[in-house]
Amino acid sequence: MSVGVLAGKVALVTGAGSGIGRATCRLLARDGAKVIAVDRNLKAAQETVQELGSERSAALEVDVSSAQSVQSSVAEALKKFQQAPTIVVNSAGITRDGYLLKMPERDYDDVYGVNLKGTFLVTQAYAKAMIEQKLENGTIVNLSSIVAKMNNVGQANYAATKAGVISFTEVASKEFGKFGIRVNCILPGYIDTPMVAVVPDSVKQQVVQRCPLGRLGQPEEIAEVIAFLASPQSSYVNGAAIEVTGGLK
Ligand code: NAD
Repeated sequence: MSVGVLAGKVALVTGAGSGIGRATCRLLARDGAKVIAVDRNLKAAQETVQELGSERSAALEVDVSSAQSVQSSVAEALKKFQQAPTIVVNSAGITRDGYLLKMPERDYDDVYGVNLKGTFLVTQAYAKAMIEQKLENGTIVNLSSIVAKMNNVGQANYAATKAGVISFTEVASKEFGKFGIRVNCILPGYIDTPMVAVVPDSVKQQVVQRCPLGRLGQPEEIAEVIAFLASPQSSYVNGAAIEVTGGLK
């Protein structure tokens, strides 16, 4: 993307303390946006901010699965740069893999709470703020996953939430279009982040063999597409679900 294309914009990124979220903060700041780095892990979000500099970024501790936490973050976020964010990236996400017959209810609920309900809570709260402040050209980018289509054994909870994110994104794009807010999602393949670090090597090898590019992706390769969707250069892209997988299906 181009340096300066997001000048004057404020972006809010969840899951900003690690992996794709952190890389996204880096690239949105590179393109000129001021960035609010949101994470349940405040220390990790602060590390992201330290890298970007406190003039152009701020950290917020938010648990996206809690309506109260998300709601109270809105006023705090507005205070950071005296402006509601018009770029929102829902990157917070977790896995709790396990076979269905042994999956504890808690693991299902936790994954649902962060990946799908969290995306709903953040989208609703910050879209409301944009609409109330009559801010135009809002853009929301959600993180689905290619697992929504691969439907891997042992990932019923994760796959269901990531498929849900695609439907959620499409509905939101239809409801928010009239407010000038675009909503899109990305389906990353296997990206070299702490989330994938816990995947057994044997599984990663299989993925690499099946991937036409023959390697895992880097977080920046997802963040570049997010930066595009956040920018006016994607002004007619709305309700899209974009695979960024190196060709892995
Ligand atoms: P990661 O584990 O590196 O980072 C996730 C971040 O989310 C962490 O900083 C964590 O503290 C934060 N987080 C977790 N629960 C939270 C909560 N309740 N509230 C606020 N923050 C919370 O993961 P990643 O690889 O960067 O993944 C980012 C997104 O991309 C996720 O939604 C993930 O499902 C999706 N994704 C990742 C991959 C991949 O291969 N890494 C592939 C497809 C999709």
